[in-house]
Amino acid sequence: MTAHAMRRFMEEAFPLCRSITGDGVRATLDLIAEELKGVAELERHEVPTGSPVLDWTVPKEWNLRRATLDGPDGRVLDSDDCNLHVLSYSTPVDLELTLDELRPHLFTVPDQPDAVPYRTSYYREAWGLCLSHNTLESLPDGTYQVKIDTTLAPGHLSYGEAVLPATDGDADEILLTTHICHPSMANDNLSGIAAVTEAARRLSARVEPRRHRLRLLFLPGAIGSITWLERNRARVGAIRAGLVVAGAGDPAPATYKRSRRANTGIDLLMSRLMTERGGSVIDYYPYGYDERQFCSPGFNLPVGRLSRSIHGTYPEYHTSADNLDFVDDTTLEDTVSLIVEAVTRFGSEPRYRSLAPHGEPQLGRRGLYGAVGGAITTKSDEMAVLWMLAYSDGEHALPDIAAMSGIEVESLQSAADALVGADLLAPMSVTRSGQQPPRAAGIYRPAGHSQAARGGRWVTSVGGGVGPAQ
Ligand code: ZN
Repeated sequence: MTAHAMRRFMEEAFPLCRSITGDGVRATLDLIAEELKGVAELERHEVPTGSPVLDWTVPKEWNLRRATLDGPDGRVLDSDDCNLHVLSYSTPVDLELTLDELRPHLFTVPDQPDAVPYRTSYYREAWGLCLSHNTLESLPDGTYQVKIDTTLAPGHLSYGEAVLPATDGDADEILLTTHICHPSMANDNLSGIAAVTEAARRLSARVEPRRHRLRLLFLPGAIGSITWLERNRARVGAIRAGLVVAGAGDPAPATYKRSRRANTGIDLLMSRLMTERGGSVIDYYPYGYDERQFCSPGFNLPVGRLSRSIHGTYPEYHTSADNLDFVDDTTLEDTVSLIVEAVTRFGSEPRYRSLAPHGEPQLGRRGLYGAVGGAITTKSDEMAVLWMLAYSDGEHALPDIAAMSGIEVESLQSAADALVGADLLAPMSVTRSGQQPPRAAGIYRPAGHSQAARGGRWVTSVGGGVGPAQ
């Protein structure tokens, strides 16, 4: 998708009444499947109501046909105009009420008097309508007819999953996930869906080998990721990095929220990317989107979140003002390029793990410290060796160690090569057969890439999409 195509997708998906379950979710997954044609097959999972998932239970399925409110002066609202008018998961009602009886069921945002708020009641049965505060203020006393034509009944929870296999790599994977449960709001979260879909299209079109399997998840918020985690407990160990993408298109600089572990490979890489691209980094906290599930202590996955503004901090958030005009095409495009760059760099920046991580290995007897002759001849070479040993934890990539140490990537690479030669370090990526990748002249380089440090920054020369800061 180009920016134009992402906008077309959002326009098509905007009117659908999404929730955590129901036909609006399925119709959205159908649109995503269409956009992913030729890239990956979107598998649609249907999990029955009542299924136990971690500490939760898959709820009843909710569907909206139409909701209307009529008063003494005629029609007050109609869900056909805006599906935010219905409390998501509202039970069906057909009632005649006075305004005072109606009031407890009407939701507004007084601070945003023109906007219709987005409200949900997934896990406590209730009925309700949402309207602008100005409309509420203008309602005369009298009799009102409420018709909420919904169904809340045993059914299924639907989510979508697609996999782009690695073309040259191991069984490890990178996760891109986004929530699909919000009805007619553009930034939260059609922008996230469009960004993940478009990033997958671009990543699949790249010529370089893909070193990690890429897994895409399109999930209803919270209950969807809880359901996926329940069904994939055995698989989560393969996740080397992940991004929850949400709120991807409001006109604000990018924000990366660290994983709970704070210092994983994706955290380190995204911190560098944010510095290069003018974004900001915030620490993990237990509120937000599905990172709360992926980072819960039992899973504790290396999954951070990429957004623009932080949810809840902009006035349009969770209201009808989060419309298609609120999403800025240039910003959405920037989010897509950040995702593509993150995935590409994660696969190309070398990382090592120490094979002798308990205490410092004795370097002198291996000719790696204070040696006469051999490859390690200067103090700075020795420092490069010590930095590589200290930070080869499988998470820190050479550019991370370069940034901390002030030592150029090239020197660190030479140290890494010497340490690999001494069986003290192993490159993180292995080929599918489980063999260590071939070393050329003792130097491990990911296939298809030529790499060089310029000004202490790691760049690749292939593909054009990855390069120095712009
Ligand atoms: Zn939201």
